[in-house]
Amino acid sequence: MINRDNRLWAPCEEADIEWTAAGAPRSRMYGDIYYSTEDGLAESRYVFLEGNRIAERLDLQRSAVFRVGELGFGSGLNFLLTWLLFRERAAGTGMRLHYWSCERHPLGCSDLRKALAAWPELADLATQLMALYPLPVPGQHRCLFDGGRVTLDLCWEDAGDALADLAGSGLGAMDAWYLDGFAPSGNARMWDAELWQSLSCASRPGATVSTFTAAGDVRRGLEAAGFAMHKRRGFGRKRESLQGTLVSAVTPIADTVTPWDRYGPRVPDTSSVIVIGGGLAGCMTAAAFARRDIPVTLMERDTLACRGSGNPQGVIYTRLSHRHSALTDLSVLSYLYALRLYAGMFDEGSLRQGHDGDLCGCFQMETERGQFTRIQAALREVPGLAGIISAESAAERCGFSPARGGLWLPASGWLDPRAVCAAAIQHERISLVDACGGISLERRDGHWVASSAHGNSHRAAIVVIAAGVQSNAFPQLDWLPLRSVRGQTSTLPASCLPETPRAAFCHSGYLAPARSGEHCLGATFDPGDPDVSLRRDDHRYNLNRLAEAVPDWEQALGAVDIAALEGRAELRCASPDYLPMVGAVPDPKDWVQRYAALAENARRVIPQTGNYHPGLFVNTAHGSRGLTTTPLAAELIASQACREPAPVNRQLSRALAPGRFIIRDIIRQGRQS
Ligand SMILES: Cc1cc2nc3c(=O)[nH]c(=O)nc-3n(C[C@H](O)[C@H](O)[C@H](O)COP(=O)(O)OP(=O)(O)OC[C@H]3O[C@@H](n4cnc5c(N)ncnc54)[C@H](O)[C@@H]3O)c2cc1C
Repeated sequence: MINRDNRLWAPCEEADIEWTAAGAPRSRMYGDIYYSTEDGLAESRYVFLEGNRIAERLDLQRSAVFRVGELGFGSGLNFLLTWLLFRERAAGTGMRLHYWSCERHPLGCSDLRKALAAWPELADLATQLMALYPLPVPGQHRCLFDGGRVTLDLCWEDAGDALADLAGSGLGAMDAWYLDGFAPSGNARMWDAELWQSLSCASRPGATVSTFTAAGDVRRGLEAAGFAMHKRRGFGRKRESLQGTLVSAVTPIADTVTPWDRYGPRVPDTSSVIVIGGGLAGCMTAAAFARRDIPVTLMERDTLACRGSGNPQGVIYTRLSHRHSALTDLSVLSYLYALRLYAGMFDEGSLRQGHDGDLCGCFQMETERGQFTRIQAALREVPGLAGIISAESAAERCGFSPARGGLWLPASGWLDPRAVCAAAIQHERISLVDACGGISLERRDGHWVASSAHGNSHRAAIVVIAAGVQSNAFPQLDWLPLRSVRGQTSTLPASCLPETPRAAFCHSGYLAPARSGEHCLGATFDPGDPDVSLRRDDHRYNLNRLAEAVPDWEQALGAVDIAALEGRAELRCASPDYLPMVGAVPDPKDWVQRYAALAENARRVIPQTGNYHPGLFVNTAHGSRGLTTTPLAAELIASQACREPAPVNRQLSRALAPGRFIIRDIIRQGRQS
């Protein structure tokens, strides 16, 4: 399991490229080329696509998901060719392509662009790949293409670590493997015997594998892991290459942690889904299932985005730290995923520039001196993520003068969460049922039945509760330790400010550029206060904090008539460890018995998967960052429900799983007794 907790945060080391006389990229680190300089396209097609009989299998498999795993993403050539073939062969079918690839040294953007320019027939797909190509931030990055029919998971990880992580999730999911690392002679780690057991554990029975090498060690290693291997003619001047099929039962890898996060062997019925709660979490979840062509009934007690997600403007935050932790890793990876999604929504017109939001950049002023110093050097290598800037530079970007310097997030900005919710559920597979009143949820005849206060019932195999602070009002979740935090925003007419903000601004509060002549100014933070009526004192508090952050505005803000200000007070839903609660809903009584021995020794491995309420999931506790975290959380739940490889590594998925609180309680009680 990949675990970076407490390690220093640093961007990935990008590939060090030199260009051959023929204009092809060559790695200085490995002294090897990325693809054949004779005809890279033909070689990739021959070795990987034909070597795995992809065309033939796409023709046979007319529905569901075809999954390809790759070791060594390199220039993305194999991915683009597979995507192109998928488009040709799977048009008009309900099929999806899931392409999972790992790469330790990703190509930098300019090298990738230059490499892909060599293939005019891939130009359209290459442009789309470039638009979503992740920054060199360690971890897993999910990119969606063709309306979600094509999923690309890019793991900027060591192949051994990424594969072990994938295998550890217990899903034998992959249909085909492309082994495309640099040649074994210069890159032994990528061809290590230990990899092959993980590879077979992550495969479906009958999965295929192909590679350009014919090395005996590779062949023997794959055979030992259950593949029947044979040699075939190599491409061009290469005499031989390898191809194989998984024929033997896979020996599972021994658990190194108690696998309470594994769902057990049950294959769930994914023919229909009910999502309860029409805020950001519910709408994003509905969209994630609809992208998988699964019909969703979205049941909302009142109206869409009427509670925490009902503010007119919110900022897309992230939280950077010089050390890894589940919190910072989620913050950064979900932020990058959300930005890819929102940029796509603006491009396709489902969000309107300036009205529904603007990815105009965000300045996060330091709240204490030197707050960002420790991450400064690392950030220099990823300016696309963030950079430390002075107060003067911030003034140029923001259009006003903040009191101090801080962090500039060039791709962030603000969004209208209500518009985001509405846009997310614009899908023919989603039916919104609002004004349901209190919803009751019970299990009948192997299905969930959700009934509205008016007696209308909906039935589905899968239910996702995304009811914000109300989520633990459902009896199946009454043990969930949710916290509520009251927050009040103030609506400030743009005419009150002497300058025109051009970027989102975070200090100890936040201010977004004007939308329809008004700024949303936020927000107070009162844990445990359930009162959502507006308070003048809170408006004053918001204005005072803005005046401290922008001293030039002190006079103008002092002149604002607080009695005339409007705003909004609502409850954020948070968790004791500040991480969202995302995943399958365990049966706590069963867990307390099943994992009781953890009370004596928390590190003990109890080799039993968790017992869960069948098909029941929760997506809540997004705190003050719902715009950032809900898209990835939704994708995680849909992946789990459909038994697909997750969009985050296993450690992060365990850190988000609601069952973590039951496990922690067992361990804590053991320590106390
Ligand atoms: C003042 C304030 C400022 C904020 N600023 C930002 C910001 O700048 N950036 C940011 O990213 N985030 C911000 N947030 C946080 C963000 O709004 C939340 O993280 C987000 O709204 C969470 O969405 P949700 O869907 O989990 O919850 P909610 O939006 O609260 O949605 C829950 C929904 O479930 C419904 N529901 C409840 N019970 C039931 C039931 N029994 N049956 C059916 N439906 C039910 C509710 O009516 C509601 O619509 C802010 C929050 C507040 C309060």
